[in-house]
Amino acid sequence: MTMQSAAPRAKRILMVGAPGSGKGTQADAIAKQFGITHIASGDLLRKHIADGTTIGKTVEDIVNKGELVPDAVIMDMLRKPVMAANETGGYVLDGFPRTVEQAEAAYRTAGTLGVGVQIAVHLEVPEEELTRRLLARARGADDTEDVIRHRIKVYEEKTRPLLEYYASREILIQVNGARPVAEVTWSIVVQLQRAFKKPNTHAAPRQATTDKAVA
Ligand code: AMP
Repeated sequence: MTMQSAAPRAKRILMVGAPGSGKGTQADAIAKQFGITHIASGDLLRKHIADGTTIGKTVEDIVNKGELVPDAVIMDMLRKPVMAANETGGYVLDGFPRTVEQAEAAYRTAGTLGVGVQIAVHLEVPEEELTRRLLARARGADDTEDVIRHRIKVYEEKTRPLLEYYASREILIQVNGARPVAEVTWSIVVQLQRAFKKPNTHAAPRQATTDKAVA
């Protein structure tokens, strides 16, 4: 069964939200609040691109067009930081999983590593507000209006189905992300504290008979 067990009380949180929903800001605040590691797939990819690494060269065009990077690249890139964070209290994963396929792939990996249930936090923000925020922020080549609209479309088509996936398997916290930053943080922290009190949120090695996804 499990070859290795993670820190028994590791907190594993996934931030799900459209581009511009505030995932990065909120993930940062949550990581600080709970003393865990913030891991952002988009930030790691942008760093690879800036550094001109092999991964960076492979993904540059894809990221600049607002498409999704292949699952295998993402899984490879995240494996080490996720495992390290798992040993040091846990993580807030921001930007992963992005598709049901990624969640399933992570579930299979996690199964062999004995990590427990995760909590997904969904930040809901209306589309006009997302576009307004992204245009104001204009971070890079993937922040032109056309690419922004495309990224929101990709989110709706590929990432939104994750919400059902998590709602039916694990714990899903729904948050209205269109409010001031501090209010959103407060709402997430309160709901997470409540969720951490539930007996199965720190479940140590997954039992073969239970069907809890552990992306
Ligand atoms: P983000 O900063 O999370 O909005 O991500 C920026 C870009 O990186 C996305 O538009 C994708 O091109 C790529 N990306 C980030 N995370 C993933 C992921 N989990 N799967 C595929 N592509 C990703």
